[in-house]
Amino acid sequence: MTYDEAPACDRHEATVPMELRTMHSDSSRPEEVVGLFECPECGYERRLPIRTGEAA
Ligand SMILES: [Zn+2]
Repeated sequence: MTYDEAPACDRHEATVPMELRTMHSDSSRPEEVVGLFECPECGYERRLPIRTGEAA
């Protein structure tokens, strides 16, 4: 699975793309996956919903 919309950590002047660490899915929202992103530079964590676009 590729995910090319990684958020940028806003704690840096330069654009530092955050890395996707883990993903969680909610049974009540099977089409929405929440990804936990972590900045490789400062360790800042952030949760963002990921739309898979393909409901199995
Ligand atoms: Zn950072």
